[in-house]
Amino acid sequence: MNTSKASPDNLTHTQRMLAAQPLCIFCGGTARATTREHMPSRVLFDGKHRPRGLEFPSCQACQDSTRKAETVFAVLSRFYPDPTTSTQRAEFSKLMRAAERHNPGFHAEIDTDQVGHLHRIGNDAHVLPSWNFLNVGGPICTGSVSAFAVKLGLALHYEITHRIAPKGGVVVVARFSNVDAFTGDMPDALALFGEGQTLEMGKFRVAEQFEYSSVYAADTMSMSAHYATFRMSMALLMLVCHSEADIPEGVHGDRFYV
Ligand SMILES: [Zn+2]
Repeated sequence: MNTSKASPDNLTHTQRMLAAQPLCIFCGGTARATTREHMPSRVLFDGKHRPRGLEFPSCQACQDSTRKAETVFAVLSRFYPDPTTSTQRAEFSKLMRAAERHNPGFHAEIDTDQVGHLHRIGNDAHVLPSWNFLNVGGPICTGSVSAFAVKLGLALHYEITHRIAPKGGVVVVARFSNVDAFTGDMPDALALFGEGQTLEMGKFRVAEQFEYSSVYAADTMSMSAHYATFRMSMALLMLVCHSEADIPEGVHGDRFYV
């Protein structure tokens, strides 16, 4: 028996994925995929432990392109609820150090600005849980969240339409902190989305860490929208269009081009 020949049964998970889709889904379908990218990345989950699913063909450059940003997003997504167990606290401290190492100035940028926030949200302050409000509007946080959101948008677009957003495609990103969510400052567009889903393997579900919901244009498969929440810290709204001309009127957010 010739055991050296690769059959569909003994290919690795990555090889099977790349056989089905040989192109990177993150850079317009112009580069060969060489690796498998988890989106959201494992670093966002407790102990880097996440069920299978939402894994995508990627070129090395696209996989590497969000490494630094993900260390920041991993921290921001853990700010609420507060880490409670000693394991979670240790992981949080480690991630804080990694985020600063990869993005010098990060710690200074997010320095707590409690009084400033209370002034900004005014009378709504009483509905908020007591936690330390952070400044997440600085350049490191904004850039990291955007880089992550664009990649997640492209991944979820492929997941739901099985199409790669081409060069010239656009991802429109709106981001929300839990302050926005608690004070009701959320867009009406969220009514479009159904109940959130999460990653799961048997009884292992991570809904309290990550949930997402997608809608798409079934006629063209060239537009989709996604709403994702990360613990009770952050929420992202991403609209993916194959061309800028497809962006519906009245859509707000930062535009990023594939
Ligand atoms: Zn790529």
